[in-house]
Amino acid sequence: MPASKPLARRGVLFVLSSPSGAGKSTIARKLLTADPDVAMSVSATTRPIRPGEVDGVDYSFVPVDRFKKMAANGEFLEWAHVFNHRYGTPRAPVEAMLASGRDVLFDIDWQGAQQLYQQEGDVVRIFILPPSIAELERRLRSRGTDDEAVIQARMARAANEISHWDGYDYVLINDDVDRCFTQVRKILEVERLKRKRQTGLIGFVRSLLK
Ligand code: ADP
Ligand code: 5GP
Repeated sequence: MPASKPLARRGVLFVLSSPSGAGKSTIARKLLTADPDVAMSVSATTRPIRPGEVDGVDYSFVPVDRFKKMAANGEFLEWAHVFNHRYGTPRAPVEAMLASGRDVLFDIDWQGAQQLYQQEGDVVRIFILPPSIAELERRLRSRGTDDEAVIQARMARAANEISHWDGYDYVLINDDVDRCFTQVRKILEVERLKRKRQTGLIGFVRSLLK
């Protein structure tokens, strides 16, 4: 078996959390564009669609009764209440993406990260902090997607989200978006190299020892 051929590996379950506005969607988008081996878990949510969002791409937007049925049927890997709405990670697409050899990226809150870790064990959790609270608010406003009441609700929730920073494997400060993105890519690169994820190594090592 030539060593230059990529060996089989188990995909990384890769969680990005942050207070709303710190930049995790920006980083996630950059990663998806840069790395074809990474697939995004598209969550289901009961919150209203925002201008510019696409159903089935940003989220699957579902009515509350449909969400409740999905939860009761065990269709979610995890789900949680966030900002008075329900958000959940559909199980089947994640399993399909892993089976096709890809890493799966989750943009979920601390509750989701905790549940996913409890269920799957092998999860890489990254928390993204803003450089300051003032900058967090500035970014929420600059995004231009939320009205004042929603911005205030997100700011009020930021401290709670930040207080869960110590439940993560890596903590990054998103001061400069390119630097933060580079750090995320480095983490993914080394996590892929962990022996436990390199499932094809056994055969290769055996071939070396023959
Ligand atoms: P989140 O997904 O965490 O809610 P977004 O990725 O939507 O946050 O980012 C919120 C806003 O901040 C967006 O307008 C984005 O372009 C901007 N932003 C993200 N990272 C940075 C950064 N390092 N410096 C300045 N602006 C940023
Ligand atoms: P937004 O409404 O800004 O898109 O997302 C609000 C929050 O919900 C973000 O912190 C985001 O990470 C979180 N979130 C999105 N999808 C899920 C999900 O499937 N599960 C959980 N637990 N949180 C989610």
